[in-house]
Amino acid sequence: MSTTNKMTLTIEAKSQNESFARSVVAAFFIQINPTLEQVEDIKTAVSEAVTNCIVHAYDGAQQGEIRIACVLTEDTITVEICDFGKGIENVEQAMKPFYTTVATGERSGMGFTVMQAFCDSVNVTSQKGLTVVKLTKKVA
Ligand code: ATP
Ligand code: MG
Repeated sequence: MSTTNKMTLTIEAKSQNESFARSVVAAFFIQINPTLEQVEDIKTAVSEAVTNCIVHAYDGAQQGEIRIACVLTEDTITVEICDFGKGIENVEQAMKPFYTTVATGERSGMGFTVMQAFCDSVNVTSQKGLTVVKLTKKVA
């Protein structure tokens, strides 16, 4: 289906921008009349992806860029969350439930699993210097 609207948001990888980012995406998504539940779902997924950029991509340094690109069609939102950080060595492994590289016990390794549960599709591509997490959610 053809694109009806687009927007791009660039933020710094700071903790205080996580709730900002999910609210901006939700406000944009509302244009295609999602249910409240669908809005909550995309907020949860965007939260996980943005948190990963903050915590992992830039190792919690509270700096570095996160770019979020949203595209709407009549019935779908696509959200691409990009960072320019360290990259994911093995994407397939990283996406497995309970897999985390954080040894302190602070992380449960469930971020990608949550994204998959709340979206229609989750696609990840990564190399050093560019990681892209692409989420889609339908309103039908
Ligand atoms: P949780 O999300 O439950 O707090 P987590 O962040 O470790 O824990 P996932 O979100 O599933 O779990 O991510 C799995 C692993 O993938 C992370 O531990 C990290 O090694 C890697 N990862 C995820 N996103 C990125 C990213 N943007 N850049 C670099 N590594 C990442
Ligand atoms: Mg995570």
